[in-house]
Amino acid sequence: MTDRREYLNRDDWAVIANISDQAFHSDQAGLGLYTIPACPAGQLYGRLTVYGRTELYDLGDDRKGERYWAARVIARSLLAEHNPDADLRRYGVFLCAGDAPLESELRDAALRRDAYFYEQVEQADALYARAPNRPELISDVQRRAARQLGLDRPWLVKIAPMQDCPVCGDPVKVGVAMCRHCGAVLDAEKAARYSVHAPAGVSAAGGARTLAGLPAAAPAGAELAAASAPASVEAPRKAR
Ligand SMILES: [Zn+2]
Repeated sequence: MTDRREYLNRDDWAVIANISDQAFHSDQAGLGLYTIPACPAGQLYGRLTVYGRTELYDLGDDRKGERYWAARVIARSLLAEHNPDADLRRYGVFLCAGDAPLESELRDAALRRDAYFYEQVEQADALYARAPNRPELISDVQRRAARQLGLDRPWLVKIAPMQDCPVCGDPVKVGVAMCRHCGAVLDAEKAARYSVHAPAGVSAAGGARTLAGLPAAAPAGAELAAASAPASVEAPRKAR
């Protein structure tokens, strides 16, 4: 068994810098796993030095082929520069021209990351406007983007999972006994346990015994209805 490190070429190196507070892991198949360290607190960047190396591959009949990977080729592969959906440059990771990042390279990396993060926040705003009761639709990247940019967003704090009331369509927390908007009993067992009673005329309309049995995705119509009603205004109670 050959030690992979034997095949490192220490005369061929490239430096990757990372201004984000996240570490990134990359599986380079035959070349193994790489970790790009996060930027340590109080510093300007995290740093990974990548070396050129020879990969051995099977030719069959116990024969091995050799293929050399230059340090900068490996580095670009780690950054996934070829793949717009995985490109780490969006997060402030980049390949340095020299042995250490220049001030201008760090500045460009921050601009690129901020542009991407603003884009993410815009998408989250659009999602939230369409479905304010579905905060789980906001991705981790979108949340991180808003925090990194110092932006205050309602979808950042609203983390209680919500569902649409099957009766009135307004957002209610998952697992509650009654809808706070229309008074429909959503979980009869729980409502009985806490001796709460729906206003007359509403419980029958409640029909649906529990929210838990409903699919997680609400019908688009219900979402639109919920989005168009101002959240602070209570929906009128159904009158007989
Ligand atoms: Zn309701």
